[in-house]
Parts: sequence; C-alpha cells; structure tokens
Amino acid sequence: MSIESFADLGLDPAVLEAVATVGYETPTPIQAQAIPILLQGHNLLGTAQTGTGKTAAFAMPLLSRVDNTLNVPQILVLTPTRELAIQVAEAFTTYASGFRNFHVLPIYGGQDFYPQLKALKRGVQVIVGTPGRLLDHLRRGTLKLDTLKALVLDEADEMLRMGFIDDIESILAATPEGCQRALFSATMPGPIRKVAQTYLKDAKEVKIENQTKTVSGISQFVLPVYAERKLDALTRILEVEPFDAVIVFVRTKAETTLLAEKLFARGHAVAPLNGDLNQRQRELTVEELKNGKKDIIVATDVAARGLDVPRITHVINYDVPYDSEAYIHRVGRTGRAGRGGKAILLVTPRERSWLRTLERATNAPMEPYQLPSPIDLQKLREDQLESQLMTFADDKKLSKAVEMLEGIAERNNLEMNQLAASLACLLESVQPGSLPLEEPTALPIPSPERRGKDSRGGKPPGRGGKPGFKKGGPGGKGKPNHRPGGRDGGKPGGKPPGKRPAS
Ligand code: AMP
Repeated sequence: MSIESFADLGLDPAVLEAVATVGYETPTPIQAQAIPILLQGHNLLGTAQTGTGKTAAFAMPLLSRVDNTLNVPQILVLTPTRELAIQVAEAFTTYASGFRNFHVLPIYGGQDFYPQLKALKRGVQVIVGTPGRLLDHLRRGTLKLDTLKALVLDEADEMLRMGFIDDIESILAATPEGCQRALFSATMPGPIRKVAQTYLKDAKEVKIENQTKTVSGISQFVLPVYAERKLDALTRILEVEPFDAVIVFVRTKAETTLLAEKLFARGHAVAPLNGDLNQRQRELTVEELKNGKKDIIVATDVAARGLDVPRITHVINYDVPYDSEAYIHRVGRTGRAGRGGKAILLVTPRERSWLRTLERATNAPMEPYQLPSPIDLQKLREDQLESQLMTFADDKKLSKAVEMLEGIAERNNLEMNQLAASLACLLESVQPGSLPLEEPTALPIPSPERRGKDSRGGKPPGRGGKPGFKKGGPGGKGKPNHRPGGRDGGKPGGKPPGKRPAS
C-alpha cells in the first residue's frame, strides 16, 4: 500500500496544519507505515535509522492522541543523547504548534535541576529526555508517570551501547499498565528484542526495506559536510563540475524554492520543481530543462518521479533520501539513454550511516568527492575569466569600446589598465564569484568520529580544522562550462525562480 498524502493518515487537523506549514509533501515510508499503527493505539517496534523521518513517524500520531486540554505528562520519549533530546523536543514543538497552552520539555543531565523542576511544576504534556536524568527525577518524586499515555524509546540500540539498559527498564516499569509503547532502533540486537518482548506486548513491526539494485553507468560520490556548509559545498560543486543539466534533490517543497532562489542569486539558470506547482507549471519547468532554458532543477522526490531528461548529467543529493528506494530513483534521473552520469551525495555527520546503507543498496561503493582547494578554485576562476574575455577579442564593438574608454581615461586622468581593473570589479559586483579577487576559504570537513555530536545544527570545527579538499574534482577533466551568469538565469533583472507566471 502506498500512502501519498498526510491527509489520508487520519492525523489531528492541527497536526496536519503543522505539516503543511513545515512543507512536507508526502509521508516518508516509515511514516506511512507507523502512523496508522500508532494512531490505532498499538505498540510498535520500528527498525529505522536517522534521516528516515522516524521522529515525525511517532510524534505526529502520538500528538494526535493526546488530550491537549489536560496539563499533565502524556508522552515520554527516551533518547540516548542530550542533542537528540533537544531535536526531538523541537520536532514535537513544531508538530504541536497548532495546540494552545501546550508544553514540551527536554530533560537531560548536565543541566541545572531547578529550571527542569520549575517547568515540571508548571505542567508539561510531552517530556523528552535522557534515561539517567529522567530516573533521577522519578526517584526524587519530581516526575510522575501515572498519567502517561505513550512512551517512546528512540535510537534504542544507541541507548543500549551507552549502557542505559537498566535505567530504561526502571523507567519502563514505572509507566502505567495501559501505556502505549514504541521502540525505534537502527538495528535490532538480542537485548533490544528482549526489552521489546517484555515491555511491548503484541507490538506491530515496521521496517524500512532497503531494496538492492545496481545503478550501472553512474558514478557515485559522497561529500561529508556540516549542515550549515551545504550551500557552500553545492555552490562549489556547481562551479567545478562540467555539467549539462543538474537535478538537486531536497526534502521539502519550501526548500526547493529557497534553494532555487539562492542558486538564482548566484547566477544559475534554475527552477524549483515541487508538488505545489500545477501540472502545467511542472510541464513547463521540465520543458525548460529539456530545451536548455534552465540548467538546474531543485526538486522533491515526488515532483521528480519519472523525470526523463537525457541532458541531466548530474544528480546532487543535497538532502539524504528517506530510503534506498528513493535514492535509486533519484540517481536514475541521470545516465538516461545509455549515457553516463554522476551522482553526488552530501552527508552531514549525523547522516553518515546512510552511506553504508546506500552502498549496500546499490551494490557499489561511493568514492569520496573532493572539492578543489581554495588555490585551485582561484586559478580556475582566473582561467574562466581569461577565456570569457578572449571571446570578445574580435568583437565588432571593440574599437567603439576602446574609443569610449580612452575618453573616460583621459577625462579622469587614469591609465587604461586602471580602467580595465575597474571594469573587472564592476563585473564582480554584478556576477559575484566571477573574479579571483578574494581567496575562497576551505570548507571544514567533519571528522568521522563525531557521530551523534553534530546533528542538523552541528558546528564546524574551529580554525584547527584541516582544509582538506584536494585538487581537481573527480570528473573535472573537462573544462567546467558553467560559470554563473549563463543564460537567462544569470541576467540581472531576470525573473526569480518560483515566481514565474503560471502560463
Ligand atoms: P529524522 O529521521 O526524524 O531524524 O528526520 C530527518 C529529517 O527529515 C528532519 O529534518 C525532518 O524535518 C525531515 N522530515 C521528516 N518527515 C518528512 C517528510 N514527510 N517530508 C520531508 N521531510 C521530512
């Protein structure tokens, strides 16, 4: 059964409204499976890793079942780390934004007890916390779980690895008999199955099946990057890759427009493709990609379904997909009609585990993608400027231009080379990044050990971070042909993406 819309799931209207506000287009596979089960009140055992949309898969249905007029703890989520507790609490707050007087409280160790006590006294409906600190509150009697309607163990395998199993069992034992329970874990080792057998009676199981399929003729690359540097990384990829047309995949409708606007501002011929566009607008966008009026499409999975444009040489996974099926579909948008293609995946430290999953699913290793160093990038920009200037060497208007510039130079008492430099600065101001005037900075590379520390909001390392992108991106043999400013997308005063008229 495939569920195409959140509206079909039976969620609370206020939750549905929040879904529309955040701009999710369709439920992810784990959401489509888990939401109906949790809405019916069953216990649930879910095998899903970070990035599958699992937080919403439990938060949305459980919120739909709370009595938001009662100011007592009704949902408790256990997470292995403080970072995850904060993120999950934020997700609950977002999905509950339509409820009035509704409070979500993250509770974790290392934080003062006092503000936690104050918040608990004031009354909260959802608590998200790490096992140790929650147990402290239970023992002190500052937290009571007798009003609890649902309990979630998130990233159970991580909690097990961190030695929380006894704490978890003590907390589970303190929850009321009829309390609904859900457990999510990326893997299902024996001790977790045992907890499930003891505490999650008659649980329904959901699993993200990672199908396997070879993607022939497409070279796959991966670029580890901090979440907040993804745009920089994408900009550089687009600068150095010799692409014909590119499809960039993101998760939400809102992000297609936002990212397209940012790329447009950088001079690319780009348009968003998402489910909010009507059929006619979508056809028009695809047509523009086919005929070369646009070179880049920023799309959601749903909007790009079945897209067949032989010009697409590159697929960039700006956001990781929800499962391997989506990845295989995305990557298959390039390499059409027997041509080769290139797929580049951006992964943040927290999403690193996707790498192995996707490699297994496609039966092919992903090579590390290497961005050029700042120095190489500067040289590249210089070469590009030079070749651009040379295209005007025999231009008919040249002698007229010389005459005009000589007049300006004379009137202002300037040398011609000073004037040429002023023109170069003018070019840079209308087409930023065209000139090698400022040395680009190296992007910090996340180190592999930081799992769990750097989440969506992870911080780059300080100045000590190795500059690490080496010379020449793979496939960078040919001359990069896409400097910003090409075609209609680059013209100052051109139409911004997403704001085109419907017809
Ligand atoms: P999670 O697996 O819960 O860590 O979620 C990963 C990311 O996916 C989060 O940034 C969510 O905001 C996002 N997300 C969750 N569900 C959806 C959806 N149905 N459509 C688009 N993005 C989603």
